[in-house]
Amino acid sequence: MKYQSTRGGVSGIAFKDAVIMGLADDGGLLVPEFLPDVSAQMHGWVSLDYKALALEVMSRFVDDIPRADLEALIDKSYSTFDDPEVTPVTDLGPYAVLELFHGPTLAFKDIALQFLGNVFEYILTERGAEVNILGATSGDTGSAAIAGVRGKANINIYIMFPEGKTSQLQELQMTTILDDNVHNIAIEGTFDDCQGVLKEAFSDLSFKQQYGLAAVNSVNWARVLAQIVYYFKAWNQLGQPDCFDVAVPTGNFGNIFAGYCARQMGLPIGRLVLATNANDILCRFFNTGRYEREEVQFTYSPAMDIQVSSNLERYLYYLMGSDPDRVRDFMETFASTGVASYPFNTSSLDDTFVASSVDNEATLAQIRSVYDDFGYLVDPHTAIGLAAGAQHRRDGVPMLCLATAHPAKFVDAMREAMPDVGVTHPTLEALAGLPTRKTPMKADVNAVKAFIETGGRI
Ligand SMILES: *Cc1c(COP(=O)(O)O)cnc(C)c1O
Repeated sequence: MKYQSTRGGVSGIAFKDAVIMGLADDGGLLVPEFLPDVSAQMHGWVSLDYKALALEVMSRFVDDIPRADLEALIDKSYSTFDDPEVTPVTDLGPYAVLELFHGPTLAFKDIALQFLGNVFEYILTERGAEVNILGATSGDTGSAAIAGVRGKANINIYIMFPEGKTSQLQELQMTTILDDNVHNIAIEGTFDDCQGVLKEAFSDLSFKQQYGLAAVNSVNWARVLAQIVYYFKAWNQLGQPDCFDVAVPTGNFGNIFAGYCARQMGLPIGRLVLATNANDILCRFFNTGRYEREEVQFTYSPAMDIQVSSNLERYLYYLMGSDPDRVRDFMETFASTGVASYPFNTSSLDDTFVASSVDNEATLAQIRSVYDDFGYLVDPHTAIGLAAGAQHRRDGVPMLCLATAHPAKFVDAMREAMPDVGVTHPTLEALAGLPTRKTPMKADVNAVKAFIETGGRI
């Protein structure tokens, strides 16, 4: 399998090079040349465990790592999860919930980042190279990325997060990691400011090359790839139904894009329910064709407080018939004016997606009602998926809702929803009182570059 950029300036590169490149050198995103059709094989995968299934799915996209090595990487990546199924399903009657939070940082990003960390180490060891990972996080990505690479040879990691805008626990999950190769940067600004600095740093190609800059944000293809796996796993866990719908709480469009890929590969997903919080740019796009940036609002689901969804470009590429000129046009118009339109009409609209946004109040109400009805605790992100899933449920079609974080990560919102119900997790309780390290900085690409140049010493 070869990879190419959504903007046409990079093509024919192998998986390992795509992983190291991260964001494509022309500013686009890397996509595989095609999405392999596995509909003839997938029924036979019904009894495979998570790791064996991951090997079947991933090996179709990775032909420059020997199968035995890929198998070892997968084994190492998912042995850190605390459930033998890796992603267990809980049946709530009208919904099935796919729990994606059994990794080391209790959020679904571990599924991608445990794998990415190991793939990075593998490639760098083979090449005798070093990288500086630069990432931006609204909360969960940072800790999951750090957990994926802490202590690994040949890798430094720099994570920018918006100071004071992640939950206290999320911050502790990052800043209590004191390995020498881990550098937390507390940026004065919003997550979008962090992402802006990230894009700028990566667009300086000579800097990128000299310092071996690498990405772990959801722009990295390896992350999408790892996430495709659990859609197949869930289908098996549901008993391989002829059709099922999936509700996905969405921010950067990474998780739901993996579902789109699985569907294109032949998995019988009927509809993908795109669920956003009040930051509803994606919801508006799928309902009107207009992609228009607004101010970021802070909600109970901070991992989705995003106005610019980096992975949408991959979907646009397919929507626009794999025409890089149209993608570039759209993205450049959006970058310069804050709005771009896709000419949706009833005949061209992609009916794979239905979209709803869920406000703060409805989020809390959903947390309460799931607890009252089923005695089951969901975090605010998951609640948004459930609320949107409820709006779009179809008779006779199973609805799978993706649970993206353990509720104990978002204690403040949980307390707001249900003051009398305690929510804890031993992993998080263990963080209290540990020493921390972070470096405050303005949202200025030059300051961040200077920090990287000195190896994270001020
Ligand atoms: C990152 C995250 C999301 C959003 O996922 P995307 O791939 O960015 O759409 C949802 N919920 C939680 C808990 C997250 O950490």
